[in-house]
Amino acid sequence: MAKAKLGSTEMLERLIGFDTTSHLSNLELISFVQNYLEGYGISSELIYDETKKKANLYATIGPKGIPGVVLSGHTDVVPVEGQKWDSDPFAMIEKNNLLYGRGTSDMKGFIAVALAKLPEMLDAGLKAPFHFALSYDEEVGCIGARGIADHIAHQEITPRLCIVGEPTSMKPITGHKGVADYDCRIHGKECHSSLAPYGVNAVEYGAELIAHIKSVARRMQKEGPFNQEFDPPCTTVHVGTVKGGTALNIVPNLCEFELEIRSIPEQNPEEIVDEIRDYAWRHLEPLMKDIDPQTGITIQETVGVPGFNIANDHPAAVFVQSLSGANRAEKVSFGTEAGLFHAAGVPTVVCGPGNIEQAHRPNEFIALEQLEKCEHFLSRLISAFTKENPY
Ligand SMILES: [Zn+2]
Repeated sequence: MAKAKLGSTEMLERLIGFDTTSHLSNLELISFVQNYLEGYGISSELIYDETKKKANLYATIGPKGIPGVVLSGHTDVVPVEGQKWDSDPFAMIEKNNLLYGRGTSDMKGFIAVALAKLPEMLDAGLKAPFHFALSYDEEVGCIGARGIADHIAHQEITPRLCIVGEPTSMKPITGHKGVADYDCRIHGKECHSSLAPYGVNAVEYGAELIAHIKSVARRMQKEGPFNQEFDPPCTTVHVGTVKGGTALNIVPNLCEFELEIRSIPEQNPEEIVDEIRDYAWRHLEPLMKDIDPQTGITIQETVGVPGFNIANDHPAAVFVQSLSGANRAEKVSFGTEAGLFHAAGVPTVVCGPGNIEQAHRPNEFIALEQLEKCEHFLSRLISAFTKENPY
């Protein structure tokens, strides 16, 4: 394929045209990017999921064997079903300097600008490489990026910086809470309600466990640990759904609920869930098993997004802040892939065009001005990496 020269807007239009809703394949978009890069002589590594219907793309531009910078973006978007759009979500349109389409802000905008900057990267005489890291399935639990982080962790040279281009209005974000979700199941013993003491009421044991979870949440809210950079400044624990019981005259044999822990970096959610498990196993299960040894409680992790936190005065954070022109870095509440890259040993900052408020909504848009800001940001980043010591 010949070199295709596409501006950020044209590139974004192409990317929006691929319906990459998380439950669908992203391979058409990935092969478009792969061909585009190939046109410039850049080869890509694809990391597939087990169905081979989705893939991450990892490509290196510039000298190898030197710590470079990762530009990270997820290729999947959230569904449009049930949303009222005024135009086709997968055909980008421009109106009053705003570009409308699913994924314009979250987060094909950043990917488009990064790809459009490829010729500039190649002409600049980079002293350290740029890596494009495009993932699948971010919106359903940061699944794909785990493969990329693993790939990076297994390389001899660790990049010196990762920029995750989620929409932050080009403000540097240096931390967010981790999210850990759990499925809780109480298996009781069914019987007629007139014989209640001979059964094991799953709903009642579920209620006791939820009451205990609430007491843990209250304690953390009161006693911490605290990190005042976050709002709220403590780890939060919450039960979002409960199911159980079929009729009033039946002792229910099953109660299910979902538990979510959003943790500050100082706290490991595993310790909290262990405390909850301990209560279930030591205080509730013996009472249940006294009546029927088949009964019991399981608490299983479902999806989780690790948190991340980098000091605002870390050289990587100071550097990204200087490129962005922002006067300070912030912590936010929404989760990203940053924690995975950070855990792989790459200092990571989240900074990208568009506003998170537009993400996941009907008539999602990005302002042209945001794409331009991102272009300037990346130009400064490219020119910094033409020096022996970018920062
Ligand atoms: Zn996103």
